[in-house]
Amino acid sequence: MITSDVIVVGAGLAGLRAALELNRHNVKVAVVTKVHPVRSHSVAAQGGINAALSNHPRGKFDSPELHAFDTIKGSDYLADQKAVLKMTTEGIERIYELEHWGAPFSRTEDGRIAQRPFGGAGFPRTCYATDKTGHVLLHTLYEQALKFEAASERADMQIFDEWFVTRLIVHNGSAKGVIALNINTGELEIFAGRAVIWATGGSGRVFGRTSNAYINTGWGMCVPFYEGVPLKDMEFIQFHPTELYTNNVLITEGARGEGGFLLNNKQERFLANYEDSAKAMEMAPRDIVARNMQREILAGRGVEGKYIHLDLRHLGKKKILERLPGIRMHAIHFAGVDPIDQPIPVAPGQHYTMGGLDVNLNTESKVKGFFAAGECACVSVHGSNRLGGNSLLETVVFGKIAGEYASAYFKDGGGTDVPVIFLNQILKEEEDKIIRLLESKGKENHSAIKHELGDTMDLGAGIFREARTMNASLEKVKELKERYGQIGLNSSGRIANFDLLWAIQLKGSLDLAEVILRGAINRQESRGAQFRTDYPMRDDKNWMKHTVARWKDGTIHLGYSSVDLSLHKAKKRHY
Ligand SMILES: Cc1cc2nc3c(=O)[nH]c(=O)nc-3n(C[C@H](O)[C@H](O)[C@H](O)COP(=O)(O)OP(=O)(O)OC[C@H]3O[C@@H](n4cnc5c(N)ncnc54)[C@H](O)[C@@H]3O)c2cc1C
Repeated sequence: MITSDVIVVGAGLAGLRAALELNRHNVKVAVVTKVHPVRSHSVAAQGGINAALSNHPRGKFDSPELHAFDTIKGSDYLADQKAVLKMTTEGIERIYELEHWGAPFSRTEDGRIAQRPFGGAGFPRTCYATDKTGHVLLHTLYEQALKFEAASERADMQIFDEWFVTRLIVHNGSAKGVIALNINTGELEIFAGRAVIWATGGSGRVFGRTSNAYINTGWGMCVPFYEGVPLKDMEFIQFHPTELYTNNVLITEGARGEGGFLLNNKQERFLANYEDSAKAMEMAPRDIVARNMQREILAGRGVEGKYIHLDLRHLGKKKILERLPGIRMHAIHFAGVDPIDQPIPVAPGQHYTMGGLDVNLNTESKVKGFFAAGECACVSVHGSNRLGGNSLLETVVFGKIAGEYASAYFKDGGGTDVPVIFLNQILKEEEDKIIRLLESKGKENHSAIKHELGDTMDLGAGIFREARTMNASLEKVKELKERYGQIGLNSSGRIANFDLLWAIQLKGSLDLAEVILRGAINRQESRGAQFRTDYPMRDDKNWMKHTVARWKDGTIHLGYSSVDLSLHKAKKRHY
């Protein structure tokens, strides 16, 4: 058994920021991550991180309050408003902290952090490091973690990479640690702590066409869900307008922020033809741009009938090389086009999970001693549609808060020791599950089930939704769940058995798919990223509420909770 004061699961931006905060409070921390920290999906973030720094000449009058307003409006008024203001206010300090820790942000001519326009924002407020923002921020936090790991004057920080968490330990209603599989040996181990911070990232791979890495299976969200932490607003899935048509690799919104155009097969900037994007054009929020792109494709005005062109040629070689070098390489390698000379073929695809583990603005959940931050959590700062650049901000703001609150919980004596007999019993339960899977000889293949799941989610829970197709997808998910019970593994060894890891995670993907579909079917309205062709209007009277899913005796139950509307009255969104 490995013991620490607090266990952090996940070493992306949220997990590492939480761990650094615990360390700052001299609390011993064990960080458990299934991939090496710098392979966490935060590394893929491109376009930037929002904060009202007012460094852009057009952003002089920006403020945390205006940033909060844009975020609330962007969320289609489903975000919890005080939580949003907390993020936009504390965000400024978090950016300077990253700068002081050495994050190499792009700079203005007079040396300040450069900012670019992003969709739905009243001012250019997205701080960036060319188009590799996530990469530089993750490396900056990892460097800090290594520094503290080596520092003798603070309590220990240990990072356990390539350890896959299978279970959250909850005893008498309090979180007490996790059980994790050492991927390199196949052995299970207990990580015991007085509190647990969850930071396992997004769940995009529940869908087929997604910009998310293969590691974002959704299992991370399900482990606490199975132990009593509810999931909130899971039906709200963001579809990013510009993913490479060939393989869904992201082409950052920064490309439009720098002035890129979206063109249909008539070479028209078609966003001008839609009332909701006519004014903001390429800088309308993602939900609106993605829908209007899809409408063009469905109306036969897509290029080759299938995709849209993102045209950067007019930006010129210098600007593209200086500000968007990464996406140029993606376009060359994965679509065979150099954006300096040719437009990039793009189409909308799954990108972000607005919902997540239900926590309050202090990252606390209904399970004592369990905190969550980052994309796996739903503090509810994005509501039904996230603004680009706000997710990286969320990771560092709420990662820090999670560290702060978990450390206070620990220091207040939160939690007592767990009886060894209980730990041994749940360790045995986990071991039995693993053995059952390793010995399973069923005819079904988990990878085939996963592909079918992705296809049915793309079809039923995509940009345009309606009861008929969603119900058909739900039926399909139920069928896939049945078939999951009959899978057989090809590999029965314990060492680095990824066949086993994918099989375990598929259960989480299937359960999340059901939560997403049932939430979306129940919600008979269109709001933010959920657009229902059978209920095309927002319905504040009946649906100004969060969906809350609970796991009880192996089944999913839906309920609802109220939205914090204390700062701004809900209005129709105009851009
Ligand atoms: C291509 C792309 C580009 C993006 N660009 C931007 C952008 O420019 N601006 C912006 O604001 N947002 C952007 N986003 C969103 C943003 O990057 C993510 O929401 C954010 O980085 C998530 O950080 P995180 O710390 O919550 O999770 P991640 O960085 O995904 O980290 C999750 C961690 O959890 C660990 N983990 C998961 N499951 C387990 C388990 N069972 N056991 C042990 N460990 C586990 C992983 O190993 C990993 O360390 C982008 C997203 C994508 C996909």
